[in-house]
Amino acid sequence: MVEHLIQAAYFVTALLFILGLKRMSRPHTARSGIVWAGAAMGIAVLVTLLSPGLHNFGLMIAAIVVGGALAWISGRKVPMTAMPQMVAIYNGMGGGAAGAIAAVELLRGQIESTGLIALAVIGGLIGAIAFSGSMVAFAKLQGLISERPMVFPLQQVVNFIVLGASVVLGVMLLTTSDNVTFIAAFFVATLLFGILMTLPIGGADMPVVISLYNALTGMAVAFEGFALGNAAMIVAGTVVGAAGTLLTQLMARAMNRPLSNVLFSGFGQESAAAAGEVKGSMKAIEIDDAAIMMGYANKVIIVPGYGMAMAQAQHKVYELMKQLEERGVTVKFAIHPVAGRMPGHMNVLLAEAGVPYEKLFDLEEINAEFQTAGVSIVIGANDVVNPAAKTSPGSPIFGMPILDVEASENVLVIKRGKGKGFAGIENELFYRDNTRMVYGDAQGVVNDLVQALKKL
Ligand code: NDP
Repeated sequence: MVEHLIQAAYFVTALLFILGLKRMSRPHTARSGIVWAGAAMGIAVLVTLLSPGLHNFGLMIAAIVVGGALAWISGRKVPMTAMPQMVAIYNGMGGGAAGAIAAVELLRGQIESTGLIALAVIGGLIGAIAFSGSMVAFAKLQGLISERPMVFPLQQVVNFIVLGASVVLGVMLLTTSDNVTFIAAFFVATLLFGILMTLPIGGADMPVVISLYNALTGMAVAFEGFALGNAAMIVAGTVVGAAGTLLTQLMARAMNRPLSNVLFSGFGQESAAAAGEVKGSMKAIEIDDAAIMMGYANKVIIVPGYGMAMAQAQHKVYELMKQLEERGVTVKFAIHPVAGRMPGHMNVLLAEAGVPYEKLFDLEEINAEFQTAGVSIVIGANDVVNPAAKTSPGSPIFGMPILDVEASENVLVIKRGKGKGFAGIENELFYRDNTRMVYGDAQGVVNDLVQALKKL
């Protein structure tokens, strides 16, 4: 009877996971989607505690209280700009948990068939890689270790040998699954591979890598779900695995780079060398003149980028939109799929500041409109508006779809100086005749623009 109730509760959990995920795909239902999925997780944990034959309740409750409290506090405190590393560490924990389940189940030696042992081993392999890889991603993004790609001679060969050793040890576990030495060696090799695989990847590529590890964590949990016969784990893991895989593909496609290039190219280590030569000069404009330009325009398109996130300028950008609209100017936002450093980065920040979602337009929706805009204002964006993506076949971003801001009558660019974007290359847009630079931190500059507009 209890067993039936538990299975029924897992079924409800699975439904809630799927419905929650569906709700997360629309900004105005996303918040409730997270609550639904969280509730599902809560039910799954509670119901699992009711399973017959469990003991060590004290330890389990202590782990839930400590883990829950840490997650609650860190979740409330984390700034938006630190969200990628937050996702990395949480996600890594999921992979680690899957790996730990595999280790415990193998040690207990009670998995019934070789097929199920194989599933536990595969889940353990993927989970351990996702765990140690995510920890390195966290350390890079948090500045605990250098963000730059760490490369050394014969790196791919070493990585291949370590991966090969993990696989061989995994296969050996199929016949001697409860041999402690083999289990320990297997996990040492897989954890080492996760570290080695992540070290050569540059900090700015970490969001793609985190998304990949997220997918791996999901798969690892699903495999362990099969080994344990736990339906909730199978469904939750599969959903996460599929969503993570799609997101990883989407990000790589939006950057116009195959995933293999993100993982194995050491992208970012030669950024200085990649900087091209651009003729001409960047022309600055005073705040008051920039405000006049925008205040009397028919339409202003705002193009936010990583610099807006760095400066936490989204609230000032909202005020800018309000000021312009009060003057009768049409204001739209152009959102590039990889603007910022994580998917949806700009959408989240602007939504937090109160910008209505209907004013945010994707690249395909807005690109044709730049031609009819009096002013485009680029706020801390660089690569996503770099015409080199269309004109320079040798450029690392060649082929990436970009926002066609240069087609507008006037272009204003807010940035602090001559700093390059993530790809480390010059941007010819800043030197064009119809482009004017407004130098300074985005938050301060946008605030000054708002004040100047008020005085018009
Ligand atoms: P970029 O990284 O290309 O450029 C950001 C610009 O912002 C810099 O040129 C910098 O210039 C300026 N900036 C930095 N801080 C401030 C500040 N406080 N105030 C004003 N300006 C500032 O950003 P984009 O958004 O254009 O492009 C994103 C890049 O990241 C793309 O190449 C994308 O492929 C990559 N990427 C994106 C991911 C995603 O999921 N979104 C994932 C992984 C990579 P200066 O120093 O002169 O101020």
